[in-house]
Order: sequence, then structure tokens, then C-alpha cells
Amino acid sequence: MAIPLERLDGPLLAGKRVVILADFDGTVSMRDVQVSYLDKYARPDWRQAEAKILAEGKKSAHYLPVIYKGFRASREELLGFIDAEMRLDPDFPGFVAFCRDHGFHLEITSDGLDFYIRFLLAKYGVEVPFISNRADFGPEGVRLSHPYFNAGCGKCGSCKKSRLERLRGPETIIIYVGNLSTDLCPAQEADIVFAKAQLLSFCRQERIPCIPFEGFADVRRTLEKFLYLAGSVDKL
Ligand SMILES: [Zn+2]
Repeated sequence: MAIPLERLDGPLLAGKRVVILADFDGTVSMRDVQVSYLDKYARPDWRQAEAKILAEGKKSAHYLPVIYKGFRASREELLGFIDAEMRLDPDFPGFVAFCRDHGFHLEITSDGLDFYIRFLLAKYGVEVPFISNRADFGPEGVRLSHPYFNAGCGKCGSCKKSRLERLRGPETIIIYVGNLSTDLCPAQEADIVFAKAQLLSFCRQERIPCIPFEGFADVRRTLEKFLYLAGSVDKL
């Protein structure tokens, strides 16, 4: 459960193993990469197909195979589009260096696909471990596999909450950074939540303490204050 904001103060991170999990699409990347190329290349009714499956209480493990069935764009075509149109948060590479300098474990937890995450991280020259679904492109189209599917959840193609639980250990502070309703599940388990957009509304609705942010420069500023100052966040 997230720590109440009034209890977030300077000494909080001292002597702790700090694990930071960041969503990719719309959090590390400025726009949602997968949604952007699906709108251009997938079946025109892909959003309705996804909404129908979500309405049945299912998640990405069920809707991803439906959306990518018969999907014919090639890897090269998609990467050409992504290269031209998609950007990472310009402050993300600096944030990666900040985490490395302070010994924080930073990891991207994504329910998107590996090929574009790997491509964009390499384009920006950053090395960050990530979990995601996996896409293999072949003559039959895209074949998906889910190395981070968790049977206990059974819903997410790539289960962020299960990953978070695996990384929890003694004296660990887990920080989650995200933007979508799908980030609510791991946000409920994290100690500190940075939220924007849909996730911010959902956290407020569910009364999950969270720190609003626009980009990684804000996350870094707040963590620096935890590290160097003793004031609580309402004084930041
Ligand atoms: Zn899950």
C-alpha cells in the first residue's frame, strides 16, 4: 500500500534498496507508441474489439491476440513510422543516469511489445532492463508470446503487479511511475506512486496516495528532495 503523502520525507530512502518501476507507453514515451501504430496499421475496429474484451473483465492476455490476428504490417514498416513519429521524454536519459548514480534499480514494466521498446531505448542510447510482451514477425504476421504472463493473475499479457511482487524484499522501497488505468494494479502495491493522466484520476478515485507528475524531470526533482532534504512532500 502506498505510504500516505504526509509520511514521505527526507530520510525515507536512507539505507533502503530503491526499486523504480516505470510504465513505457505514454510514460517513458511521450505518446502511446502501440496505440499510435495500431490506429494506422491495425483493423479499423481494433479499439472496439479491445473495449469489448475489457468489458468482459478480461485484459491484454485476451485482447492482444485478437488485435494482432491478421495484422500484416512488417517490423520495418512499423519501425519507420515509430522512428519518424515517436519520442521519449527528453528527461528520461538523465533520469536513467540519476538512478544509476544513486544505486536505484530502474526497470520498465510494460504491457506493450518488446520490439519498439528496444528500438526507442537504443535510439536514445539508454540501457534499462524491461519486461513486456514479445513480438516475432514472420510471413504469417506477428506472433505474440508472453514471458511475463502470471497464471495467478491470468489477465495481463505482461503482469506488472507480479513483477513488482517479485522485486519486493526486505528494506525495499518500491516506486511506481505510470499514466493509465492499467497501471492501477501495480500502483495499489507500490510504496510511492507517481501518477499522471488517467492513473492520477483513478488513484484519486480509489484514494491511493500519489504524487502528480508531468515528466521524469518532476520525478527526479521529488526524489532529490527525498534524498537531500528533510521536508515532507506538501512542503516541496
Ligand atoms: Zn496482472
